[in-house]
This record gives sequence, C-alpha cells and structure tokens, in this order.
Amino acid sequence: MASDSMTPMVKQYLRIKDIYNDAILMYRVGDFYEMFFEDAEIASKLLDITLTSRNKNEENPIPLCGVPYHSVEPYIAKLLSLGRKVAICDQVEDPMTAVGVVKREVTRVVTPGIILGGEGIEAGSHNFLAAITADLPPPTPPYKGGRHFGLAIADVSTGHFSVAEFDTLELLAEEIARLEPKEILLPKRLTNDENLLSKISRPGFEPLFTSLDESRFAPQSIEGLDGAAQIVATLPAAARAAGAIWFYIKDTQKSEPRHIKRIESFLAAKTMRLDDATKRNLELFRQMIDGSPKKTLIDLMDRTSTAMGGRKLKEFMLYPLMDAGQIAKRLDAVEAILQSGLISDLPPHLSKVYDLERIASRIAMGTASARDMVGLKDSINEIPEIKSVIEVSGLKSQVSGLDPLTDISARIEKVIVDEPPLSLRDGRIIKNGVSPELDGLRDVSTGGKDSIARIEARERERTGIGSLKVKYNKIFGYYIEITHTHKDKVPPDYIRKQTLVNAERYITPELKDFEDKVLSADDRIRTLEYDIFSKLREEIAGEVERIGKAADVLATIDVLTSFAIAASEYKYTRPVVNDGAEIRIIEGRHPIVERINPIERFVPNDVHLDGEANRLIIITGPNMAGKSTVMRQTALIVLMAQMGSFVPAKEAVIGVVDRIFTRIGASDALSLGQSTFMVEMREAATILNEATPRSLIVIDEIGRGTSTFDGLSIAWAIAEDLHDRVKARTLFATHYHELTELALTKEGIKNFNIAVKEWNGQIIFLRKLVPGGTSRSYGIQVASLAGLPEAVIARSHEVLKNLEAGELDEIGKPRLASHAGTTALNAAQLNLFCKPPSSEITEKLHTIDTSTLTPIEALNILHELKQKI
Ligand code: ADP
Ligand code: MG
Repeated sequence: MASDSMTPMVKQYLRIKDIYNDAILMYRVGDFYEMFFEDAEIASKLLDITLTSRNKNEENPIPLCGVPYHSVEPYIAKLLSLGRKVAICDQVEDPMTAVGVVKREVTRVVTPGIILGGEGIEAGSHNFLAAITADLPPPTPPYKGGRHFGLAIADVSTGHFSVAEFDTLELLAEEIARLEPKEILLPKRLTNDENLLSKISRPGFEPLFTSLDESRFAPQSIEGLDGAAQIVATLPAAARAAGAIWFYIKDTQKSEPRHIKRIESFLAAKTMRLDDATKRNLELFRQMIDGSPKKTLIDLMDRTSTAMGGRKLKEFMLYPLMDAGQIAKRLDAVEAILQSGLISDLPPHLSKVYDLERIASRIAMGTASARDMVGLKDSINEIPEIKSVIEVSGLKSQVSGLDPLTDISARIEKVIVDEPPLSLRDGRIIKNGVSPELDGLRDVSTGGKDSIARIEARERERTGIGSLKVKYNKIFGYYIEITHTHKDKVPPDYIRKQTLVNAERYITPELKDFEDKVLSADDRIRTLEYDIFSKLREEIAGEVERIGKAADVLATIDVLTSFAIAASEYKYTRPVVNDGAEIRIIEGRHPIVERINPIERFVPNDVHLDGEANRLIIITGPNMAGKSTVMRQTALIVLMAQMGSFVPAKEAVIGVVDRIFTRIGASDALSLGQSTFMVEMREAATILNEATPRSLIVIDEIGRGTSTFDGLSIAWAIAEDLHDRVKARTLFATHYHELTELALTKEGIKNFNIAVKEWNGQIIFLRKLVPGGTSRSYGIQVASLAGLPEAVIARSHEVLKNLEAGELDEIGKPRLASHAGTTALNAAQLNLFCKPPSSEITEKLHTIDTSTLTPIEALNILHELKQKI
C-alpha cells in the first residue's frame, strides 16, 4: 500500500498496522491517539467520535479520527466491550530530539481475553482467555476414537492458569459454556471448522476467536511453571494450548506474566458436571427470559464483600464438590461462623480489602499505579483483624496459612505517600526521607519558588506597580505581567515577550535563572520519583505469589461468611451430605420463589428420592400448580449443598450427585436453527446416554412439541428406560396423567401430585406435593382463570365430556396407558368425534399382526389411524 507520495509517518503507520491487522491501531501523534483509514471509519462509528481526514485538500485524503491520550482508557474499554482488539502504538523516543519521523512501537495490545483491571472489567467476574487444540486420537486407549481436544484457560488478571483434555467436542463445549471465556485462541486450521465454532458459540455467548500460527502452540513455552512437567507429559494436547496462551500474553502485553507461577489440571478435583442447559434452566447466573442477572441463584447467594470473594463464589457454583468430606469442611466453617456470632464482625474488614489478585497481577505485569500500592497496603492492614476474628470463631485451620504480608505493607508505607495522584509521571508519589537526592531537589524547587515569590514583592515595590504579578505558563515559563495602565513605569531591564489586549508580559535574566533551577529540579524530581516507584514495584513483583495465596484465603473466608450471612438471613439449615443414594428433603423451599412472591406465602414441600422404591417420581397436577417449582427447588438445594452452603429446607440429606440433568419447558433455540421439539429430544437423548445412578434428573414436561400420541409414547418410553436401565434419581413432571399407570408395574416409580381444590368450578392451588396421581388436568379451569371468554370455556367443557366418554376402556382404565398392541389398537376403533370408523380403517386394523408390535409401535399406528378418522 505504501507509495512514494506518502509521508514517512504514513509509511510507518502502514508498516505497523500490517503486523497488527486484526486490531484497531491507536497511533500516538502529539497529545492524541489517532486512527486512520478503515480503523478510523470503524472506530468513529463505534466510539461515536467525529470522522475527519488528513490531507483534506489533496487527491487522496486519509480518513482519520482521534482521542486525547490522557483519557484514552474509556475508549479502549468501549472497543473491548464490543469485542474489538486495540493495539496501542506509542512514541518510543523523545519527539524533541528525534531525527526524522519519531520512532513508534506497539507497547501493548488490549484484547477482550486479557484485561488487567481498571475500566472494562467486571470486578466480581473472571475474565478468561482460552486456547483450543484438536488432535486425532492417539492409537492407544483410553480414547474411543474421533477427535481429541485440548483446552487451556487463563485469567491474566488473577493469575489463574489451568488445562483439561476431552474426548468429544460436546464435552469441550460444555466446559467452555461453563467458563464463558471472552476470547478463544485457535490454530489457523481450526478457524474454518464450522462444526467446532458453532458448537462453541451460541446466541448470548459470542467470544472473540483469534487465530494463531500452529507453531505458537508449543508446550515448551510453559516449561518454567510449577506443574508443567506433568501436564506436558500427561496432557499433551492441553499443554500445546497452554503454550499458545503463554505466547499470546507475552506477545500482547510485551512483558512476562510473572504472577502466573503454576499450571494445573482443573478436572483433577472431582466436581459435579454442570452443562449449559442446566446452568440456564436453573437460572444460576442469568434469568431464562431476558438474561438478566437479577433474581438468579448467584444474585441471591452473593453476600460477599470483596471482588475476589465474588469470583470465588462463582467458582464454587460452577464446580460443586462431590467429596462429602470436603463439603463437610465448608459446612463446618459456615456453622462455626454462624455459631460464633461473628457474621457482622467480618464484612466491615473484608470490604476494606481491595482486589488483591488483580493488584498483584498488575504489579507483576508492571502496570500497577501508586494507588494500587496504597490499596495493597490498606488491604494488608486489615489482615490481622480478619485473622483474629476468624480465630475466635475456632476456625484456626482456615487462617493458619494466611500470610500477614506485613513486610510488604511496611515497604509501601515507608516509600509511598498516603494519597498519591493517578499519574505516575507527575511526582508527588514518594515520601520525604526516602531518597536524599529527592529531598535535596525538592528543597531546590521550593526554594526557587519562594525566591520567585520574593521577586514579585520586590519588583512591586521597585516599580510602584501594585498589580504587578509573576505568573507561569508552559510556553514562556515564569514571566512578569503588567497591565497597559502602568506601561510607562516598566523598568528598562525588563524584556518584552508578549502583548495581550490589556497587558504586557516580560521576563528578566534573574527570573530565568530561578526558573531554570526550579524547572530542571522539577523535571529531575519527576523522573526520580518514577524510578523509585518502579524499583519498589519491581521488588514487590517478586512477592506476588505470596499476595496471591493470601488473596485466595481471604476470598474463601469471604465466601464462607457469605454462606453464613445468607443462612442466617434466609433461615437455611445445614444439609447432611453423604455418599448414600438418598435425597431426602423435609420442608424444602425454592430459594428465589420464596423471596419474590409477596402475595402468596411459600408452601414448603417434602421430596424423597432414592435408588430403590423412590427412584422415579412422576408429578402430575394442573398448570400453575407448582410442579416446576418443586422440581427446581430440589435441584437447587442439591447444588447449594454440594457448594458447601446451607439450604432452604428444614432438613436435607443429600446423597452426592454427579450431575444434575434438566429438561425444562419449551426452551426455544429456534435461533440456533433447531425446532423446539428437536431441542427437546436432543436434551432427552443426552440424559438417556449420559446419566448415571448417581445423577439427579429433572424432566419438566417432555413430548409436548408433537402430537399427543407421539408425545405420550415418547414420554412413556423415556420414563421406563430411566427406571429400568439408567436408574438415576428422577423427578418427572408431566401433563400426560396416563403416565401414572407406570407406578402399577414399576417398583421404583411413585406418583405424586400437587394438590388443588375445586370450588364452584374454580380451582384453588394448595401447593402441596402429595402422594398419588391425578386423572384430571384442570386445563379448562386454568384457562378460565386466565380470562378465556365464558362461551369458549363452556364449549370446552362440552367437548371434554365427549372426549372423556371415549377415553376409558371397558373396565374404566385409560385406554392409552393400557399395555401392548391389541388393546391400544382397539382404542382407535373408538368414535371420538361421534362418527363411525370408515371401512378403510377397519380393513387396515385386520391386516396388522398385533402380536409382534411393541407398545410404542402400536401407539404410532394408532396415531396414524386417528388422523384418518
Ligand atoms: P407448574 O409447573 O405446575 O405449572 P409452577 O411451578 O410454574 O407451576 O408454579 C406457578 C407459580 O406458582 C409460581 O410461579 C409461584 O409463584 C407459585 N408457586 C409454586 N409453588 C409454590 C409454593 N410451594 N408456594 C407458593 N407459591 C408457589
Ligand atoms: Mg411448569
């Protein structure tokens, strides 16, 4: 693109832009960061700033827009939030002394996956960067065939770095959905793997994909880290992904992430699997309808006081434990905090603790400000109090490893003033007494300023001009200003510099003398202060691992305190979590619903599941009765218990669950190009294929998205299979009350319904889960409640009567639920709509050999025939 007609600066710009072609290049010119060409066109729109052009009057004007350098941060944050990358190109030599074009270099690339704090980053959330590799499987077991995937995840702002490998794309996608990284690094050849990309992103989660050369996926890059040797040896695909992350951090930040010391395999600890459907269906982080974070489980449970605690709580929720012993430890701590009555003593101290993880990483990356240092010091000063409060509550083991870090705070205290300015380049950061040279220069500077002030007084006297003033500006330095009224009194030794409308400005050699002293001292002070600060930052960078460890302990204390606060405020109790098969909840409540429905008092319910006689509970009851609520509350109570939290119940015994499966309502994924029914069946397939006897399955309506007979058949067969083969603990709500028949023949299936009372043709919801099935759906009553016209309601009652007359067989049993072919087929002969069957149908019925049909096949034929009636 460069041609001879271009200025050297434009040529320089194009050369740099060529390297950073996937980023918006912010190019420092004077006091501005300028963007040119296409970047200018894009950025002016995204940032809502004016687009102008350079060389306006020439043949090829260059589109241009710019932002002031001192307020660039919010603009960068905006571009990041819109998923853009920004390369910051600075002047790397003094423009005053430069020969030709000032030398410029990209000093950092700000990218959505790597943000070190400040604007544009949510305090209570992780900011993950991921890298993926895909391999053909190694020839030896345990891999079953197909591709094999490596994943590495880092949060540069906190120093978190972990890896995992997966045998299927689905498992990889599940883990990515759990962590929701902002940016994903891919080797070039995967960037057009549509299948992979579409499995990973979805509406509402669209990470930035960054493609890197294959050679960047080098496991050698991570060799210096603790734990790397084992990972390189045992998880080679993940190690290569980790190598790419390491390269990318160094390449964009232009410095080593020294705070990242360890790499670990994050699936090493046994945790509950949590797929995206369940995360959504249980509204853990976002509401289903509008994606709002309000009224979600995290919103309710988050009573943490620090940003680190907020992130830790999210981790606890994303990775519920499966080890009953570890869970008991957390519960013990919550109980101890509750019993000691210290709940209100901790938050005031915790809330004074800044985000130590992020401060530590900024220190390590060399971007920490003086205010960060003071924040670190102030935070450290809270540690002794927190420690002693915790020790009083008997939780010595929780804090025994908590490093008091007092040596670090002492160093900061000694060097840095208590309220430093934002900028590191303008001085006023370093205390007196730290450096004799600095103290001396400060004396010169203030002495000079005093002398200048004295000059003003003396000159007023000498000239007799009372309004004479010594002033300062950046262009002239110090000067004497005299209004035109006193022009004739100006002494001859004054040198005129500038004429204004009503005054003249003068200098004198004496003034310039002091000015030189003051300005050169001030200059030197600024550099010296910056150097002293950088040295301290560098020293403390050697201690970031200690800071990170203390931060982790404080975060955990914060989360456990948050559990205790929620438990006391919402009246939660301690669950018993064990390795048994039982889930027994007495007077359980839905944690969110109980808090948001002020009109209706929440009715607690008991739920009992085990691997035996209460393996699969079928829940029937009219719409709006509370089926979904009782099922979700059960899943939420299990999840909370395995996080180590108290739960909304009078009593709860939770036999550890390895995964919560949810199939709920008509989750509409039409935007993914799949019909609702297809999504429903996919979710059902996942459940049948992957659930184990240790799982908890919540099925809230299945088979609605197709014809009644299809739907019923499928629901029936799924329930049977769950009971007979999968043997997972299951709650199964359905509007097909025919399914209640299953309890007659299956020893592990029990019927429950949510009680309602009929009164004057209206229904009253009792919200109580009681044993037994329902044979009525009360749909018409609910429709009436909803305000359907009375005439339509009346006609519905009529039609229902006709239908029901035909629905029972000779002995009064629901026909559809009857077993095996013959009886089911007989149902087709019924004249549901008061018309005799056509001869065609009667003939067809005779030609079918019913003895070989499975019930489902029979039901399907039945359905087909019914359509012909
Ligand atoms: P269903 O799934 O049977 O159609 P839901 O579980 O969606 O019914 O419940 C409908 C509404 O009833 C809920 O939004 C809630 O306001 C209320 N509700 C449900 N269960 C209870 C309960 N146990 N106590 C009080 N209100 C409840
Ligand atoms: Mg429901």
